[in-house]
Amino acid sequence: MPAQVLAPLDVLIVDDDPLLLVVAESYFRAKGSKNIYTAADGLVALKVLDKLEVPPGLILCDLNMPNIDGLQFLRLLKQRNYNGPVSILSSEHQSIISMAEKLAKTHDLNIVAALSKPLKPAELYDVLLKLKKPVLTSVSTARQQFSKKELQYAISSGNIIPWYQPKVDAQSGRIVAVEALARWVLPDGGIVEPDAFISLAEQSGLIKPLTQKIIRQVIKDAKRFKRLRFNLGIAMNISVNVLDDVEFPDQIAFLVDEADLDPSLFTLEITESGIVEKNAVSIEVLARLRMLRFGLSIDDFGTAYSNLDHLMEFPFTELKIDRMFVSNALGDEKAMASVEASILLARKLGLTIVAEGVETQADWKYLKEYGVEELQGFLFSKALPFEKLIDYIYSRSGEQINRTG
Ligand code: C2E
Ligand code: CA
Ligand code: CA
Repeated sequence: MPAQVLAPLDVLIVDDDPLLLVVAESYFRAKGSKNIYTAADGLVALKVLDKLEVPPGLILCDLNMPNIDGLQFLRLLKQRNYNGPVSILSSEHQSIISMAEKLAKTHDLNIVAALSKPLKPAELYDVLLKLKKPVLTSVSTARQQFSKKELQYAISSGNIIPWYQPKVDAQSGRIVAVEALARWVLPDGGIVEPDAFISLAEQSGLIKPLTQKIIRQVIKDAKRFKRLRFNLGIAMNISVNVLDDVEFPDQIAFLVDEADLDPSLFTLEITESGIVEKNAVSIEVLARLRMLRFGLSIDDFGTAYSNLDHLMEFPFTELKIDRMFVSNALGDEKAMASVEASILLARKLGLTIVAEGVETQADWKYLKEYGVEELQGFLFSKALPFEKLIDYIYSRSGEQINRTG
């Protein structure tokens, strides 16, 4: 089972055993936690909590401690209306641990696990997995400004991960592919959308390491799809700044090959404006990617007024009509004209036609009638974390998806 990317948590560890504190702290540190608080008893723990502005994502709590013991501590937590996840960790007999767990639940505390000492990393990992879903769904709506340093740290510590938005076949509605969309997972579990950090990454020279991280994780996830026998294409966004590197095609091909996957499973989406503005995008890099059998898509089509002769020089396989024209095209003559022109052009160039930003059944019907082949949009689903995507695919019955074998 491949290591999963988990949101790093702030944790509070309450235990009177100094050795346990060290071991547990290093465990969470290795999992990317930045803020780890320790307390030798319940009294100290409460003081720590009172000082924190953001409560920890997990409290790990011993039962047998001096001053205020674990049972009292749990009761006092409830009195403070604390409802974050708590795990008990104790060397008491199993029956006592279970009793403590029941008691805590009658206080309506959010007890996620009751573990016996010694501390076992595998058990802690299970606790983290359990926490993963609620953590990843708490979306922070705040549009924040980030510094280059913060972004650099987030990239290197694995906090920028791909989420996946389904692409469906316009005729059948089956899920045929997904697009990987970068998400920044904050220590509190908040999710930052790419508009808040991709251009910073591009301007500060961090887009290459960011893209590398995304590609590696996407390939891991592609292997998991394969194991589940989902025959899904995967699209990734590649900034033009990445394409000035002549080594890029061989690097990505190596990773795909190493994972025993087929390059034709992957489509690299490159924005039209990038292609237009940056004449330096070497045709050589794109041609090599194509020779290696990666799909190449012109993303955000319609936004950059490309010179068509120029576009035709590139070996694209797909044209993706920008959502600006697609969402509610029906109510807007100009948008509709743009969609129809894009479709004609794509046909002429022999490209697969994809529309993004499909939000209504009426959009779907219209696009299908005009011959768009694949659709992506909130009508089907927003981007989802990997596990949720799997749930979504299963929820849409077996026939809705392409499967191998
Ligand atoms: P994009 O490539 O055009 O991706 C599609 C965006 O449209 C996604 O936003 C998606 O959530 C949104 N979208 C999809 N369907 C609908 C719909 O029906 N209605 C509306 N209103 N929006 C819809 P997201 O995830 O915020 O991504 C924004 C942009 O960030 C992407 O636009 C892409 O240009 C860039 N981006 C995302 N991930 C990466 C990455 O790993 N590398 C690079 N270089 N750029 C990325
Ligand atoms: Ca895209
Ligand atoms: Ca777009």
